[in-house]
Amino acid sequence: MDIKNTLEQKLGKSIADSSKQEIYVALLNITKDMSEEKVQEDTGKKVYYISAEFLIGKLLSNNLINLGIYADVKKVLADNGISLAEIEEIEAEPSLGNGGLGRLAACFLDSIASLGLNGSGIGLNYHLGLFKQVFENNKQKETANPWIEENTFLRKTDVSYPVKFKDFTVQSRMYEIDVTGYDNRTNKLELFDLDTVDDSIVGDGIDFDKKDIAKNLTLFLYPDDSDDDGRKLRIYQQYFMVSNGAKLIIDECKKKGSNLHDLYNYAVIQINDTHPTMVIPELIRLLMEEGIDIDEAIEIVSKTCAYTNHTILAEALEKWPISFLKEVVPQLVPIIEVLDDKVRRRFDDESVVIIDKNDTVHMAHIDIHYGFSVNGVAALHTEILEKSELNNFYKIYPEKFNNKTNGITFRRWLLHCNPELTDQLTEWIGDGYKKDAEELKKLEKYLSDKDALDTLLKIKTDNKADFVDYIKRTQNITLNPNSIFDIQVKRLHEYKRQQLNALFVIHKYLEIKKGNIPETPITVIFGAKAAPAYIIAKDIIHLILCLQEIINNDPEVNKYLNVVMVENYNVTMAERLIPACDISEQISLASKEASGTGNMKFMLNGAITLGTEDGANVEIHQFVGDDNIYIFGAESDEVIAHYANSDYVSRDYYEKNPALKEAVDFITGDAMLKIGDETQLNRLKNELLNKDWFMTFLDFDSYVETKEKAYADFNDREAWAKKMLVNISQAGFFSSDRTIAQYNEDIWKL
Ligand SMILES: *Cc1c(COP(=O)(O)O)cnc(C)c1O
Repeated sequence: MDIKNTLEQKLGKSIADSSKQEIYVALLNITKDMSEEKVQEDTGKKVYYISAEFLIGKLLSNNLINLGIYADVKKVLADNGISLAEIEEIEAEPSLGNGGLGRLAACFLDSIASLGLNGSGIGLNYHLGLFKQVFENNKQKETANPWIEENTFLRKTDVSYPVKFKDFTVQSRMYEIDVTGYDNRTNKLELFDLDTVDDSIVGDGIDFDKKDIAKNLTLFLYPDDSDDDGRKLRIYQQYFMVSNGAKLIIDECKKKGSNLHDLYNYAVIQINDTHPTMVIPELIRLLMEEGIDIDEAIEIVSKTCAYTNHTILAEALEKWPISFLKEVVPQLVPIIEVLDDKVRRRFDDESVVIIDKNDTVHMAHIDIHYGFSVNGVAALHTEILEKSELNNFYKIYPEKFNNKTNGITFRRWLLHCNPELTDQLTEWIGDGYKKDAEELKKLEKYLSDKDALDTLLKIKTDNKADFVDYIKRTQNITLNPNSIFDIQVKRLHEYKRQQLNALFVIHKYLEIKKGNIPETPITVIFGAKAAPAYIIAKDIIHLILCLQEIINNDPEVNKYLNVVMVENYNVTMAERLIPACDISEQISLASKEASGTGNMKFMLNGAITLGTEDGANVEIHQFVGDDNIYIFGAESDEVIAHYANSDYVSRDYYEKNPALKEAVDFITGDAMLKIGDETQLNRLKNELLNKDWFMTFLDFDSYVETKEKAYADFNDREAWAKKMLVNISQAGFFSSDRTIAQYNEDIWKL
């Protein structure tokens, strides 16, 4: 294909005479045309990956790569003095996801298409997304994040269904986004929407009338659920998603010849966490409308649905008061009651019921009883589900439980985000690794090659310089490219323990004040959004932003230590940060991070993990060995025992540990109170002293010691480069192609 010709035809003029915006639109349309040609007929069994979130990231460059024209486009533009990177920046990042769970769904869609499997994503088309984070007065402020532009990857379709709520019915509209496989077929992400939704009901910030469903239904992902109207809105959204999805699935299966009694031969539905759980009773209801009796309908649906668990945090397992369901979707209530009744007849165990004594519906319990597969997302996570969190279910259905360790798509998280490393790897080991990630192991032959190790360090240095430019240009933040880039980016949550990292920063700051100067300067980088109603999380952001102000403006210290929190952490930011990282912070309280996928992206890009034995860190540790990872802190058994015995008392650690006490006291010391919000800082300190539910203090000493070891080791550049190379060479297992092959082999059987 002659890219120059195609592009100029689309533009209707020469490249030289076109604006960047025009070139962007032309490229967008070319990729849409090309991907459409790779859509295949829907035959045989199909997987439907249904998820409240798809954190897909910008699409242009990813599609150019997967369609095989990235290099050509880049060259044609460069010949005209235009950089493709600048064109890429024009695209708005779709705001359809929140964090790891949504990013996983996006990586999975890429791998499903890249493995040539028949599958669609099903979700909602949120107009204003999650929210856009801005910092004001060292605090997070949420604003709407409109991302749908006139020229967009979204395609409007004719597919539309009536969706009935208690007092009214709405008419949906389906949009599609092409999912281009890498050198393979194109699949679809189906996003349901409502024509009546009205962005203008949102004022400054993210407030709106939560009761005006026809106007607000698909405005925001995860609308504030701190009041009942917000909670009901989430039920409206969830039902709208699954009812549309179920109708689409039934239509597509009928078209392929299903008589619905054999639905499971035509479709498998992967339920991503509990948000889409109502697809089970809704499908049962729809099959009954088609004349199938309830017992058979339940059986059919149970053979069609599989559930992925993403968390053991009790507060994250969704439960809805049955009164809410009666108010929003009364048609599901009798079906859920039958599902509960069947469970109660079989098992005399209140812990596995669907509707509990308080008339609360446990969504995960529906999935486990009425799905044929229950999977965790990393080996340790699945083990904890089986042995403790879901042990009562495991005893009933051992055959349903299985592990599928998460993965990431290397197309986005290596080929796209780190082209310099990609080219170098290809020079060393050929490009087989792009389709078979295990081939990265071939890099082992360079472990004692000094030139290769130097090259690896140079690539890291270049990526750090690129990031320094980018963050200066976009957020006016100045960084020292010669410092250690120590990075923690992920959602803000107490279990992920950004507060532990912040305590270290305070400790280090005070050490430098005392004259203990680090050999190499350090830049600690944070990026995280806090849920708008999560008060302590916002206090932690406030702490970090105040530390940034104090430390970066202290002339005694800022030559050696800087702290930076980047605004609005999203996929685009991740793609810039991760290739530039030296130390990857994965410091969740052991047992609490189901898997993590950030850890995998960093490893693949040659960062060294500093982490606890949690989630997929455990597997990363096994692959790279003790010398190529920094592991610290209590292990999951110890943590689980502390919870069981209620014997963790944070104040004891504070009283006995002068360094910790000094750091904690700093939170409400004079320097902080001078610039910070006294209420927020006091609340945070009290939370740590009197509760510290995620045991920050338990691991403080071990964290400080291990991090200092990593900083010291960094100075032996050749030894460090070796660790980098080991990490890259061992990353193959964490390709989502492997994960998806396992889902297909064990669960979907397409
Ligand atoms: C990968 C990714 C995440 C998940 O990160 P974890 O460290 O696994 O929590 C969250 N947000 C974005 C933008 C990501 O790319």
